[in-house]
Amino acid sequence: MNNITNLYSRLPKIDQILLSEKIEELFKISSREMVTEAAREVIAELRESISNKNLTLEDLDYRISRVTDDIEQKVKIAIKPRLRRVINGTGVVIHTNLGRSLINRETMEYITEIASNYNNLEFDLENGSRGSRYSHLEDTIRKITGAEAALVVNNNAAAVVLVLSSLAKGKEVIVSRGELVEIGGSFRIPEVMEQSGAALIDVGTTNKTHLVDYENSIGDNTAVLMKVHTSNYRILGFTESVSLEELVGLGQKCGIPVIEDLGSGVLLDLSKYGLQHEPTVQESIKAGVDIVTFSGDKLLGGPQAGIIIGKKKYIDLMKKHPLNRALRVDKFTITALESTLKMYLSEEIAVKKIPTLRMLTMTQEELTSKAEKLLLEIDQKNLDKLKIKITDDFSQVGGGSMPLEQIPTKCIMIHSDEISITSLEKNLRSYNTPIITRIFKDRLYIDLRTVDEYEFNEVAEGLKFALENILKE
Ligand SMILES: *Cc1c(COP(=O)(O)O)cnc(C)c1O
Repeated sequence: MNNITNLYSRLPKIDQILLSEKIEELFKISSREMVTEAAREVIAELRESISNKNLTLEDLDYRISRVTDDIEQKVKIAIKPRLRRVINGTGVVIHTNLGRSLINRETMEYITEIASNYNNLEFDLENGSRGSRYSHLEDTIRKITGAEAALVVNNNAAAVVLVLSSLAKGKEVIVSRGELVEIGGSFRIPEVMEQSGAALIDVGTTNKTHLVDYENSIGDNTAVLMKVHTSNYRILGFTESVSLEELVGLGQKCGIPVIEDLGSGVLLDLSKYGLQHEPTVQESIKAGVDIVTFSGDKLLGGPQAGIIIGKKKYIDLMKKHPLNRALRVDKFTITALESTLKMYLSEEIAVKKIPTLRMLTMTQEELTSKAEKLLLEIDQKNLDKLKIKITDDFSQVGGGSMPLEQIPTKCIMIHSDEISITSLEKNLRSYNTPIITRIFKDRLYIDLRTVDEYEFNEVAEGLKFALENILKE
């Protein structure tokens, strides 16, 4: 029989542990303090197990033999970044919780080149004098959109705040009641308006707003007529809204600027690719709007950014506004956005290279062939507790864009009579590269639209890992 004091005396001393070879290796990847702390934790956990009397002598000796491994694991977890790559099996292309739009790999190389070296972010190479960080983007944006001038800030929410603060502070902004949008993450038009020091005048009703509603509300204090794209919802049925053209007409007649928050920032006609038509940035400029704002990382497919384009006299005001300095973008954003925008100079290249567009325009043949390949990889793992087949389903655009769009897709569908599908989903999430999937009616779905071929092996390995974990429980 062992008494407890006897067991405690078997525990190695911290100083002693720190001298071992394995721990020596840890000092190369972490600090002495961190390793010592991890060692203290491991020993404290052992002491606790002893005091709880739930250890046999064999158990204890086994755990003592693993002390350095446990310390190593603790240190490695502590230094590992919390933000990690995941596999998106949900079929939601612009998944706000999973990082929205993906950046193309060539662009990432360009970012490495720029950000790991000095660069001409604010340097005019021709004159050898100070330059503007915005100059790199402005010409390209003007060329693609047809706008007179452009400015880029941190995100579209910031863009709207900057526009309203510059043009409407202390004055009134007229918006249709049907367009008082709330976007995820607490962006609400009435609150943004308040933040910007502008007074919201909402006109019309939820389902119907007429031009005369705007007209009747225009007064001496009206600074702006605003249109907000209802990007994440639709009002259907007995409805009427005023077109951008009509609003621009009214604005011009009364000498009041018209601004539009477009949300998604579509730069090409998606209806060509079988999706519904989503208003493009170019259409807004053509309609004569004074200012348009849109996101960089929704349907545009670039980095997080808010892009403001339109009449030069207004953009100049925003460039000089003190808020602009607080909302400014850094070199990562500028590099990624410039590279993404340059792809739009050829629509064919944009659709092929920008991951968001590429995923949204993937053909049924391609999806089927991907599904067959993934199924083959999974079959090789002999996971006979799982019933796996290819099925038709629908993907979503996501990111609060095109909420009604149901894009036909192919999925791997997994069912089982022997294990719980809920725990399969959970275990896939705890895989080394977490795999995020969707459950519907006790079946697990992996949508091929958002999973790339280089991830197939990981998905198959992940399923094997998850199944083994469940069977161990
Ligand atoms: C998404 C969206 C925003 C916010 O854009 P972020 O880039 O997420 O800040 C604002 N307005 C509309 C209409 C949107 O769809």
